[in-house]
Amino acid sequence: MSQSLSREQLLSLAQEFGTPLYVYHAEKIKEQYETLSGAFSAIKARFFFACKALTNINILKYINSLGAGLDCVSIYEVRIGLMAGFTPDRILFTPNCVDFDEIDAGRALGVTLNIDNISILEQFGNRYGGSYPICIRINPHIMGGGNYKISTGHVDSKFGISVHQMRHIERVVKTTGLNVKGLHMHTGSDIKDVNVFLAGLEVMFEMTAHFPNLEFVDLGSGFKVPYHEDDVRTDVVALGKKVAEAFAQFKAESGRDLEVWFEPGKFIVSEAGYFIVKTNVVKTTTATVFAGVNSGFNHLIRPMMYEAYHRIGNLSNPDGPSRIYTVVGHICETDTFAWDRTLPEIREGDLLVFYNAGAYGFEMSSNFNSRLKPAEVLVLNGKPLLIRRRQEFEDLLRDQIDVL
Ligand SMILES: *Cc1c(COP(=O)(O)O)cnc(C)c1O
Repeated sequence: MSQSLSREQLLSLAQEFGTPLYVYHAEKIKEQYETLSGAFSAIKARFFFACKALTNINILKYINSLGAGLDCVSIYEVRIGLMAGFTPDRILFTPNCVDFDEIDAGRALGVTLNIDNISILEQFGNRYGGSYPICIRINPHIMGGGNYKISTGHVDSKFGISVHQMRHIERVVKTTGLNVKGLHMHTGSDIKDVNVFLAGLEVMFEMTAHFPNLEFVDLGSGFKVPYHEDDVRTDVVALGKKVAEAFAQFKAESGRDLEVWFEPGKFIVSEAGYFIVKTNVVKTTTATVFAGVNSGFNHLIRPMMYEAYHRIGNLSNPDGPSRIYTVVGHICETDTFAWDRTLPEIREGDLLVFYNAGAYGFEMSSNFNSRLKPAEVLVLNGKPLLIRRRQEFEDLLRDQIDVL
């Protein structure tokens, strides 16, 4: 059984709350979390929701109630996480290219710091020595992930400290007395080959010899969920088995009993999200038929930014004859959601739904073109809860200072 919202439910939500509208299904989030944690039940595994995928505080409260931890990339995400009820011991702070002060603010709040730059490592060690244990983010130079823009493990990546800089890391740790409790890697997103994780794990295991105080190895995320009709998902059950075997072998050889940590974003919330829009116009040109909707890349940027594929449904006319459409938004720039997509006939006024809209959807939205951001609704136990109001005209000017 897989949790999902029906067409009737989505239509009634659109009617009640208007469009464009983001809808999240709580029980689907729970199902994904339980699938993942169940796959690793044989070993000591911890999961930290990478909240940059979706930070509405109600989503965070719900995920907190499931027992997960939180992975944050900015001090503000850390603060929202604390407000949502995550205790500092269940928050991992993994920023990149931030000022030392931001790292220090994370330390003051008591969260686990994941440091990914030798210069910061030096500064932190010089100031605090071994008094505040830290985690180090390694770049293992393993290529993973669907596309260059979302791959972070390659040699040109700005993330992590290269595995080839081990000597330098060691020197800093030794000189400053840093207490390293974790090693971390995150090679990208949309990784369907479980061997990428296992290759990374091997690199991490090799490094453990240098760090006697290690408590955990963090394998990041990148679990793939199906976006396309015939996409596969990362086989987390197979991965769980292989990782458990690798840890058992490592323990037998080294006598060390380490935890494994993960930071899933997409896997937890992507499929729980729906984005509903209304077709404003159907426009036939000499080249194609456009369906122009009341949204754009200011609300869902993944297709334009990553060439991401989102399945689309016609909620209003599901049994209409198949036709071919280019689905576009109303932003004044190239703003295409889908090229040459076969869909049930779209009529002006029809409601369309983008599936898999829970991760990096609303979160990456903007007010470009002076357009308003959509509302967000959480469906919990069959009940719709408005968790973000739709923006109004006044919101566009809220932060501006009119001085002329
Ligand atoms: C973005 C990110 C994640 C989550 O990636 P997904 O592909 O959404 O699962 C995990 N860890 C770190 C450090 C990240 O930056």
